[in-house]
Amino acid sequence: MSNRPYHIDVMISAKSIAARIEDLAREIKKEYSDTDKLVVIGLLRGSFVFIADLVRELDMNVEVDFLEASSYDDGTESTREVKILKDLRGAIEGRDVLIVEDIVDTGHTLTAVTSLLKSRRPNKMKTIALLDKPSRREVDFKANWTGFEIPDAFVVGYGIDFAQANRNLPYIGSVVFEDE
Ligand code: 5GP
Repeated sequence: MSNRPYHIDVMISAKSIAARIEDLAREIKKEYSDTDKLVVIGLLRGSFVFIADLVRELDMNVEVDFLEASSYDDGTESTREVKILKDLRGAIEGRDVLIVEDIVDTGHTLTAVTSLLKSRRPNKMKTIALLDKPSRREVDFKANWTGFEIPDAFVVGYGIDFAQANRNLPYIGSVVFEDE
């Protein structure tokens, strides 16, 4: 589908994203005000720009780690499996942790990742997603913080790809196929 001609409409500007991240960082600092060193975990690859901007707004002690999960659909939604392709480098037992995701869509990825990481017994674990598409949810999941709720559109930019392209756009845009 990547050779179908398309253009990208700006949905959320770089300026709006930056302003929202400042607000979110303020709330996160308040939530973790007693934390000695926060472990910020980015889900690869889509969250890499978001986590980079977010940690620079968190003027507190942070460590950064990454996890890569891939979900695949075997045809029946209820048996959707999430595989860990790249695990964390560090242990999180007893630590205060923040999981950073680009988009909550069906909810399967964060449901599986939070359940896996909870089993490693962190002290406190919260989640933040830049984008949320509530209308697409298949399992009940709500991140502790959400940047923006968006409609059911295929989005790119600010770390998020279409067939590995467009991750370097500074804004969030929606893909519009010319033949639609
Ligand atoms: P889910 O919540 O369905 O388990 O999966 C969330 C993941 O689906 C996101 O991390 C992202 O990789 C992918 N995803 C969901 N919506 C979009 C989208 O609009 N564009 C892109 N590129 N990926 C998406």
